[in-house]
Formats: sequence, structure tokens, C-alpha cells
Amino acid sequence: MAVGQTDEVPEALFHFDEVTVRFGDRVAIDRVTVQVHDGGVTVLLGPSGSGKSTLLRCCNRLVVPSSGRILLRGRDLAAMDPIGLRRRVGMVFQRPTPFPGTVFDNLRVADPELSRIAATELLGTVALGGSMLDREATELSGGEAQRVCLARTLATGCEVVLADEITSSLDASAAAQVERTVRSLADHGRPVLWVTHDVVQAERLADHELRIEEGRVAD
Ligand code: ADP
Repeated sequence: MAVGQTDEVPEALFHFDEVTVRFGDRVAIDRVTVQVHDGGVTVLLGPSGSGKSTLLRCCNRLVVPSSGRILLRGRDLAAMDPIGLRRRVGMVFQRPTPFPGTVFDNLRVADPELSRIAATELLGTVALGGSMLDREATELSGGEAQRVCLARTLATGCEVVLADEITSSLDASAAAQVERTVRSLADHGRPVLWVTHDVVQAERLADHELRIEEGRVAD
């Protein structure tokens, strides 16, 4: 073995260990054991109702498993404070959810100490200009609003981004801009878990792919 080479498996970003999620009688996630790579874009791909969102929501405790456990970089999520966890593991939703007020106001909801200079830098990471700061957030186009929501999530200082069908309400060019933004985030060291039912989008974006079928991860 060459010097410096090791046969150790790098620690997973998330480790799902026999995770089951039930909603009443319905089993949404069925004894899933899987590791999510610590880097790049991991796409959770599967048809509607297969359990993608539920699996994603387990990663920041919006959903709590009925049994099994989930580790974030080796630490059990069940032992973590949910608010602290959600600052580390940010989430962006299907529809943009800008709050009333300016874009700057929206970013300061996530970080009340954020300066205009830091806010301008943050907008740069989602390919928006600083002139956007004083725009009314609820009057932005869908694509702009979704990137502001992404920036607002990043303003919490999160290490990981969970993205739940975040381009599905956007037109093709806005979706492409959001995809480019996410690619850049992942390439700059922030892992992204991306839920989609769109096979073509998955091919474009995925560094790693988990196919979800009827609550299980397909081989
Ligand atoms: P996907 O994201 O792949 O469309 P979901 O994770 O949203 O799938 O849903 C998986 C299954 O769990 C579906 O049958 C859905 O109806 C059910 N489900 C999801 N969330 C809830 C909930 N809060 N209450 C009851 N059933 C739910």
C-alpha cells in the first residue's frame, strides 16, 4: 500500500441505520440502511410517493424515525438539539417562501448580525447582484425568490443543504440557474441532498444517486 493510502471508508455525511418511518398504518420508509457521501450533490430520485421527502426530512428532524437511527458525521441526530441541527442542516422547499420585506430583511431573519457587505457576498454565491438587497422579496420572480431563499438558508451558516424539489415551480431557465447555483455550492465544499422525480435532472446534477422505491433504497 502506498504511503498515505488507507483502506478506511471515509465517514459518511449521513448514515441511516435500519430507519423506518410510519405515518399511522402507512410505512413511508422501510428499514433503510444507507450512507450518504460527504461531498457533492446526492440526488434522491424516485416516483411521487416513494418516500424521498420523508427521507430528506429525517435529515434535519422535521420527521423523526419510528425506529432506527441516523448519524450526521458520526453523531446521532436523536441526541442533537433540533434548532441547532437545523442551523447546520439547512433546507429549501418546493415553493419559494420569501417573507414580506426586502431581500436584506429576509437574509437578516437568518442572521440578525449580517452586514450589507456580507449579505452582498452571500447573494453572489447564489448568482444575484448586491442591488437586489433593497428589492421587495415578495415581488421577485420565482427563480430570484428561490435563490434568495437558498441564500437565506446559507445565512444560517449551514454545512449541508437539503433541497426538496426546489425547481419544480420554476420555468426552465430559472431552474437551470438554481441548478448552476447548487452545483457551485457543492463544488465549493457544501454537500447538497437534492430530491427530484426528474430522471433527466438527476443525470445532470448527481454526483451520487439514491433511487427510492416504495420506501426503500434500490440496489
Ligand atoms: P415523495 O417525496 O417521494 O413524493 P413522500 O415522502 O412525500 O414521498 O411520501 C411517502 C409516503 O408517505 C406517501 O405515501 C405519503 O402519502 C406518506 N406521507 C408523507 N408524509 C405524510 C404525513 N405527514 N402523514 C401521512 N402520510 C404521509
